[in-house]
Amino acid sequence: MTAAVHPRLQPHFDAVIARNPGEKEFHQAVYEVILSLTPIAGKRPEYLQWSILKRICEPERQIIFRVPWLTDAGEVEINRGFRVQFNTALGPYKGGLRFHPSVNLSIIKFLGFEQVFKNSLTGMPIGGGKGGSDFDPKGKSEQEIMRFCQSFMTELYRHIGEYRDVPAGDIGVGGRELGYLFGQYKRITNQYESGVLTGKGLSWGGSQVRTEATGYGTVFFAQEMLGTKGQSFDGKRVVVSGSGNVAIYAIEKVHQLGGTVIACSDSNGYVVDEQGIDLDLLKDIKEVRRARLSEYAERRGSDVRHVADGSLWDVPCQIALPCATQNELRGSAAKALLDNGVELVAEGANMPCTPKAIDLFQGAGILYAPGKASNAGGVATSALEMQQNASRDSWSFEDTEARLQQIMTAIHTRCVETAEEFGEPGNYVMGANLAGYMKVANAMVALGVI
Ligand code: GLU
Repeated sequence: MTAAVHPRLQPHFDAVIARNPGEKEFHQAVYEVILSLTPIAGKRPEYLQWSILKRICEPERQIIFRVPWLTDAGEVEINRGFRVQFNTALGPYKGGLRFHPSVNLSIIKFLGFEQVFKNSLTGMPIGGGKGGSDFDPKGKSEQEIMRFCQSFMTELYRHIGEYRDVPAGDIGVGGRELGYLFGQYKRITNQYESGVLTGKGLSWGGSQVRTEATGYGTVFFAQEMLGTKGQSFDGKRVVVSGSGNVAIYAIEKVHQLGGTVIACSDSNGYVVDEQGIDLDLLKDIKEVRRARLSEYAERRGSDVRHVADGSLWDVPCQIALPCATQNELRGSAAKALLDNGVELVAEGANMPCTPKAIDLFQGAGILYAPGKASNAGGVATSALEMQQNASRDSWSFEDTEARLQQIMTAIHTRCVETAEEFGEPGNYVMGANLAGYMKVANAMVALGVI
C-alpha cells in the first residue's frame, strides 16, 4: 500500500488487519476506502460516530459451507461454498456468486465490501453481499455443473430470499448456472420466487439488458468521463482485458460508439486485431463453444496476433478497460500504458488495478475510474430486474437500456460532485468512495447500533 492513511483512521485500519489475518485482498479493498475518507476524518467527524467505520468493515454475517457433488465418473468431490452478507442498511444483501478456484474468504470479503459502496452509489435500495465457491467450472461437463449448482443451492437456499439476500452471477456464474441454481431453489421452496436471484433468463423472469449491463455501463461511464474533456469514443483505440461477459459487452458498446477495440485477453494470452475485434466470432468462441481465445487468431486469419505470454497492457491504446479480474493491472503495466499515452482507464472488473497502478494514473493526471463506480451498471440492472419481478412486469430492451444509461450518468455526476465538494476535483476514487460511504453511514446512524 502506498499513500498514508489519516492518523485518525489508522487505528481502524490496523484493527481490520489484526482481526482478519492474511486476507490481503480484503485489506486492500478496505485500504482504498479508508484512504478516501481522509476529508471526512478532518471535516465531517459525524460520519465516524457510533463506530460506523468499525461496523462497516465487519460483515453482518459470514456463511461457509461444504458442497459435496458427484463427478461423471462417480467420484465424490468437495468444494467450499461462501456467502458473506455484508450490509443491509440500504436494502437486502445484493451481490453476485463467483465460481473460480482462486475463491477464498478474503476474495469474497473484498468483493462484498466493494459491493456495499457500489450498490449505495447506484442510488437503488440494495445492501451488499457476495458469495461463491472454489469450484472450477473449466473442463466440467454440463451434468457436473448442474449437480454442483444443485448441491450449492441445497445449502444456500435457507440464507437467501427476495427480502433477505439476492445473489446474481459473477466470474464463472452466468445464465446457465443461474438456471440450475434457480431451478433447485424453486424445487426446495416450492415457490416461484422470481426476485430471489437476478441475471435470470428472459423466459423465466430475467430482465432485458442484464447480460449486457456491466460492460455497457462501464462504457457509458467512460463516455461521461470523456465528456468532461469535450471528447468521445469516436476514433479511439481501446484495449479491453478479459473476454467474458463484462469484456464482450464493453467491446460491443465501444464499437457502437465509434471506438475500436484492438485487443482482448483470456487466462492463456491475448489477441491483437488492428481491424477491431470481430464480436460475432468472439461470442461464438466464448459464449457458445466456451473455448480458448487462441482459436480467435486461428479462425480470423493472418493479420491477427495471438500472444501467449507477455502483457496485454503493452499494446498501445488511448483507452484501457480492465474487465478481467482483481489485481490484473499492476504498477509496471500502468507505466507501460502511460508511456504509450493512455488517456483514460475505467474498471469493468472489481479491483483490477493495484494501489500502485492507481497512484501512477492519478499522479499522471489521466482520467481513472474505480470499478465500484464504473462497473455498477451490472448490479443496477439487477435492481431493475428486482423491480420488474416485484411488479410482475417486463420492460423493453430500449427502455431498460435508457434506464441503465441514466443511472450511469447519475453515478458519474455523484462522483464528480462529491469529489468537488471535498476539494478533490476529478478524483473519481474519492468521489465514489465518499458518496457511497456517506449514504450507507447515514442509514446506519438512523437505524441505531445494530
Ligand atoms: N457480480 C456483479 C458485480 O460485481 C453483479 C452483482 C449483482 O448483479 O448482484 O457487481
